[in-house]
Amino acid sequence: MSTATAEEATGAGNYFISNYPQYSFWKPEYVPDALAVLQREAPADLPLGIYFHIPFCRKRCHFCYFRVYTDKNAAEIKAYIDAGVKEIEMYGDKPYLQGRKPKFIYFGGGTPSYLSAGQLKDLTDRMKAVFPWDEAEEVAFEGEPGTLNEKKLQQIKDLGVTRLSLGVENYDDEILELNGRAHRSGEVDRAYGFAKSLGFGQINIDLIAGMIGETEANWQACIERAIADEPDCVTIYQMEVPYNTTIYKEMQQSGKLTAPVADWPTKRRWVSEAFAAFEAAGYTVTSATTAVRDPEKTKFIYRDALWGGADMLGTGVASFGHLGGVHVQNHHDIGPYLDIVTRGELPIYRAYPTDEEERLIREFILQLKLGRADMGYFRSKFAAEVAERFSRPIEHLRAEGFLEMDGDILTMTREGLLQVDKLLHEFFLQEHQNARYA
Ligand code: SF4
Repeated sequence: MSTATAEEATGAGNYFISNYPQYSFWKPEYVPDALAVLQREAPADLPLGIYFHIPFCRKRCHFCYFRVYTDKNAAEIKAYIDAGVKEIEMYGDKPYLQGRKPKFIYFGGGTPSYLSAGQLKDLTDRMKAVFPWDEAEEVAFEGEPGTLNEKKLQQIKDLGVTRLSLGVENYDDEILELNGRAHRSGEVDRAYGFAKSLGFGQINIDLIAGMIGETEANWQACIERAIADEPDCVTIYQMEVPYNTTIYKEMQQSGKLTAPVADWPTKRRWVSEAFAAFEAAGYTVTSATTAVRDPEKTKFIYRDALWGGADMLGTGVASFGHLGGVHVQNHHDIGPYLDIVTRGELPIYRAYPTDEEERLIREFILQLKLGRADMGYFRSKFAAEVAERFSRPIEHLRAEGFLEMDGDILTMTREGLLQVDKLLHEFFLQEHQNARYA
């Protein structure tokens, strides 16, 4: 770490790209654009997903930048669920959404598994009454290992969950403690074992390369242990230290510009080694962060549909959505969220109406994060010649050895894929370059 250049060191800020244009361009003055979409006729063939955000956690991780609540009691959680359902009911009446059946559902957080089985059943029954799930191809659910026992996992499966994602992050108890995680490795083993025996359609485990205290030997041990568990999918993030995290606050207090975690080249190497080990075990790398055991069987519909331009209704506090080409985000504090919904209004805080060119860039860069973009797709969907439109960044990335072109297919090399978030800015419109992400 000590020899890393300023560019290689892990400084503060978000590097991970999940949308375009960046969230810093979304504004309250664009909310009428989102409301206007809701009055339009429902599109005939655009897939719809529903995201519901559960902002509660047992404990706040030191690297977490989400607004999470660790002190809410059962009555407050019930009030939140009631508000979430009311929000969904309000959307259910809108012309743009009325009668549509979701193709995918996603419960994210926070910690969805923080809710009791009874609270989850209540929530999902009432959601299904507005938007029936009978055509849903995927119901994804994030779980924190320490909140899950066999009975609760069975109840979660009974709700219709097809993709269970366990936030393992690391298998070493000392590293979990140092990073403020609530769970320990024994809870991972128990939760994973039960989930596996219950036969969820797909189990994903999340790992983070470069947490505070990570070492070469421990990372290798993490990889071996994850492979031995044979998950359907593994998602490996490179540790970032956004503003608003406990780690960043400590950096500020001690006047440090560099976070106390591994530098970027080390984190890239660790992910590269993990991918190589998973490939040797028969897995296929399917994006900059994922490897799957059986690419034919193991899909991630939420990600692929969203990144392909699908509608997604984001519900719950702070949630993000995308409807009719307009990005939408809800109020990020639970107080205003509850007040607004209780008044019978939609809790949209900010929005951004994308134009055709921004939608093209969004889909193109997100598909590059999957490692592959088909230029024929963009020709037929956007009437755009990607090779001409992006000739400079494409040539630059090819010259650097990060990208290859074969006919209509652009493929990120492994070296490019491991740092794809850093490279994608070259495809942004001039006015979006060098802007803060969040
Ligand atoms: S479990 Fe996730 S959402 Fe909750 S505090 Fe940790 S990082 Fe944040």
